[in-house]
Formats: sequence, C-alpha cells, structure tokens
Amino acid sequence: MEKDSLCNKFQNAVSDTQLRHKSILDILTKLEESNARVNRAIVKSVTSCGCIEINATKQCYNKPSLQEVKESLKNHIEGELCETCREKIQEELGNHMYYVASLCDALELNLDDIISKEFDELKTLGIYSLL
Ligand SMILES: [Zn+2]
Repeated sequence: MEKDSLCNKFQNAVSDTQLRHKSILDILTKLEESNARVNRAIVKSVTSCGCIEINATKQCYNKPSLQEVKESLKNHIEGELCETCREKIQEELGNHMYYVASLCDALELNLDDIISKEFDELKTLGIYSLL
C-alpha cells in the first residue's frame, strides 16, 4: 500500500468530509442513488441529447479462440459522447466514487488495497479474470 497514492488521498479527503452521511445506511443508499444517476446520465445521452445511440444485438461467443471472441464483441454504442454528456457522466461517476470511498472508509477497508488486488488479478489472469 502506497501511503500517498491518489486513492489514499481521495479516501482520506472523503473521510474528512463525511458529516451528513456517516451512517452505513446513508452510505449504502447514497451509493445506490449515485449508481442510478450514472445510469440516468448515460441514458439521457441517448434519449435526450442523442449524441450516442445503443444498438444492441446478440453477442457471438462461438469463435475458435478467446482472442477472436474478444475482437468480435461489441459495446453496442454508436456515436461519441458530446462534451456536455461527457462532463455530466464524469461528474456522476466522480460522485459515485465518492460513495465507494465512503463505504470503504466506514468498513475500514482501503480503496487502494482493493484496486491494487484487483489490478494484480487482472495482470495475472488477463482475459480469464472475468470468466
Ligand atoms: Zn450528448
């Protein structure tokens, strides 16, 4: 664990600012609310702004190799986020991360340790880590 990592600085700053949402119950419900706001911002990019469209079809996993499967998978997003939508989604993701750090703090978990562990698993298992 790196003491001065960005994650640690962020988690410490979050911890210092927790006044209204100190209870785990408030944190859990604010985390869900912020998750919904991220999803809402993305949906509004499609339905209100129109800078992106979602064109979803069945994914094909029937390929000879994992690499070919990976290359054939689509994210189903067409277009690019406009600056307004990009900023809104970034803002909502930042707010969501605040509550992730807040949850870690309440449970005495270290966000940097969690990300480091996940990163190590990704480096070790690569494409197999999420199967
Ligand atoms: Zn837009």
